[in-house]
Amino acid sequence: MRERLEEALRKSDAEYTEIRIEDVASSWISFRGEELDSIGSSKTVGGIVRALVKGGWGYSTFNDINNLNVRVKEACESAKMIGKEESKFAQVEPVVDCIKAELVKDFREILLSHKKSVIEEYNKIVLGYHEKIKTSIVAYGDSFRKIWFANSDGSYIEDERPNTTLYISATARDGDNVQHGMESTGGMTGFQIVEGFHEKAEASAKRAVELLSAPPVTGGKYTVITNPNLTGVFVHEAFGHLSEADFIYENEGMKEIMVLGKRFGSDILNIIDDGSYPGQIGTHKYDDEGVRTRKNYLIKDGILVGRLHSRETSAKMGEMPTGNARSIGYQFPPIVRMTNTYIDKGNSSFEDMIKDVKLGIYALDMIGGQTAMEMFTFSAAYAYMIRDGKIAELIRDVVLTGNVFETLLNIDMIGDKLEWAPGGPGGCGKSAQSPLPVGFGGPHIRIQNVVVGGRQ
Ligand SMILES: [Zn+2]
Repeated sequence: MRERLEEALRKSDAEYTEIRIEDVASSWISFRGEELDSIGSSKTVGGIVRALVKGGWGYSTFNDINNLNVRVKEACESAKMIGKEESKFAQVEPVVDCIKAELVKDFREILLSHKKSVIEEYNKIVLGYHEKIKTSIVAYGDSFRKIWFANSDGSYIEDERPNTTLYISATARDGDNVQHGMESTGGMTGFQIVEGFHEKAEASAKRAVELLSAPPVTGGKYTVITNPNLTGVFVHEAFGHLSEADFIYENEGMKEIMVLGKRFGSDILNIIDDGSYPGQIGTHKYDDEGVRTRKNYLIKDGILVGRLHSRETSAKMGEMPTGNARSIGYQFPPIVRMTNTYIDKGNSSFEDMIKDVKLGIYALDMIGGQTAMEMFTFSAAYAYMIRDGKIAELIRDVVLTGNVFETLLNIDMIGDKLEWAPGGPGGCGKSAQSPLPVGFGGPHIRIQNVVVGGRQ
């Protein structure tokens, strides 16, 4: 393959050219209530050529990998029609590397019928848990992406990216009152990730039923402690997307806000995106432009120190490449994306964080939400009141709203244990590329003065 790619690249007369070929094998199974909703497998092969001429990008995507010379030519011709200015594209050292997946249980060697029987057990547990459980979703998916990447710098990378995911949702109903309990898992190490999930399946059903009799929260301003999963979603959604350099570059207002060196939180706050973090679902040795991934501080000791770059945005903004150009598949070019984003651990124990909270909320996981520039609205999947320094009753309909910059400044305690969200079939969406596997996490964090409203 290397010779074929390099031969095709020699036909290019663009300033920069890359070819990415992918072979993707996947399978999926989903139950909805009693029904087997979907089951199947697929195998696709395809690729993309991307060429840069005078600041303009030309693309050619294809499924037939036999005419690479023609594809390179097509991409070059398109780029020439678009390019009108000087190209800005950061130089990086070329690499030649081959990364092999390490699977404990290779899901490609497991029969679809066996996968179905494992998933079906979880569905039976959910549906059989209680008479108030009305329906379920149990969805399994796996994919194995083999990638061949070569560019005109002289890089050649072979990479294998496996992924296994499981999502369980239980729905309980009592009249008009409908509640959900969700659990998920995912990872890059094989089928065993989704095995032995019986207790979690039961936990999802149990929570849905318990939430039926939980009172809705009374709206107001509270001290809120978020669990690691919710901390992670918050930092990804509310702050991580604002750190994507393509977004900042195109947005004058955001450029004035996201100034390096400016204070965004107290000294205890550190926010990091790390595509090299071992074992996480957003981890790859190289991004999809052949740039080595690394640990990138976005906020260090409360100060904004970095952002996420592709080779193009880094050259345009005069900053170092960070290894954050990613693509969800061969149909798409790489764009600036997060990898594994987290708030770093601090030094407070959970007991210390909670002990002087007279009236507050312990909010766990996220069931939905949206962001608009610096404003966010997140619904916690479930929550407990904190009364006189102790966890009290389960409550529902907890919706956290606010301005991300004010909220970061209001973080006054950070837990001493970093945990990653469990993974699952969802992922990050941007510019029609969804879902991209991303890791997110953090410790428990305590935030003062959070506006909490009940769901409408
Ligand atoms: Zn996202």
